[in-house]
Amino acid sequence: MDRKLLAIVVPAYNEEAAIPFFYDEVCKVAGTLSSVDVEFEFVDDGSTDNTLGVLRELAERDARVHYVSFSRNFGKEAGMYAGLKNAKGDYVVIMDADLQDPPKLLPEMLSYLESGEYDCVATRRVDRKGEPPIRSWFARRFYRFMKRISKVDIVDGARDFRMMSRKVVDAIVEMSEYNRFSKGIFGWVGFRNKWIEYENVERVAGETKWSFWKLFMYALDGIVAFSTAPLILASVFGVLMCFIAFLFIIFIIVRTLVFGDPTSGWPSMACIILLVSGIQLLCIGVLGQYLAKTYLETKKRPLYIVREEK
Ligand code: UDP
Ligand code: MG
Repeated sequence: MDRKLLAIVVPAYNEEAAIPFFYDEVCKVAGTLSSVDVEFEFVDDGSTDNTLGVLRELAERDARVHYVSFSRNFGKEAGMYAGLKNAKGDYVVIMDADLQDPPKLLPEMLSYLESGEYDCVATRRVDRKGEPPIRSWFARRFYRFMKRISKVDIVDGARDFRMMSRKVVDAIVEMSEYNRFSKGIFGWVGFRNKWIEYENVERVAGETKWSFWKLFMYALDGIVAFSTAPLILASVFGVLMCFIAFLFIIFIIVRTLVFGDPTSGWPSMACIILLVSGIQLLCIGVLGQYLAKTYLETKKRPLYIVREEK
């Protein structure tokens, strides 16, 4: 029987400590897979430590290891895109280098794809153990908000850890947008998805590359990339304001008719001006966000630049 190829895409940024563990662990599991050969597609996302050295050495020893190294840090989204683009393979799986995506799930994921019933096997964490509570709280809010304002199905706790068939990978690579938000893109392309759940695992070595602020900005990117609902904000506020103004006018007319017209009211005027101009600025800001993304998108810059590959 023809053996199929499973490509493992690994975006890595300053992971010199984690990669050896990752490689050993995955090789162990790969040895138990009888129906496929594996291939590694590492992406060194402009690491400042010895990640590239570690990858060079692995590639030297093991012909199944390939890597690309970026000219600078382009972010995990660009890393995943580069990996998916370069991966050959009938099946492709994206994994973090820190073993937070348990390799022991690979056989199960593969079996779903091989059954032909699913095109894509995705994973989600059922808990957020070992994560700062404030971060979990914001993450939950984000997913709930996204669900409301976007038509795309974005699942709470979903990881980028997913195994896809060739068709799905091609569809994703086809989407070469600059402002990438993979969790949305995975949902957008559709196909038959199987969800697998697992409990959170802490990273094996090194530390997280995502500060709270970086995650927050990433969440904003996600909203702008997969929903245009915030653009309606200005219209909603406008209608609301007109309505309130209308009630106010009636109130003032009635008051003038009943009590005469004492000249007062500059404090209320000041409040109204502040409120309305605040809302206007907010709406212009929202508009600006979309404009900025459109601006970057029209430049058609490459998503990443390769400095070295093998
Ligand atoms: N990563 C990357 N580029 C970045 C940041 C992260 O390629 O700019 C990689 C990182 O090396 C890891 C994966 O993305 O393999 C997930 O990052 P991390 O474990 O720091 O995130 P967390 O699991 O804490 O959300
Ligand atoms: Mg991690």
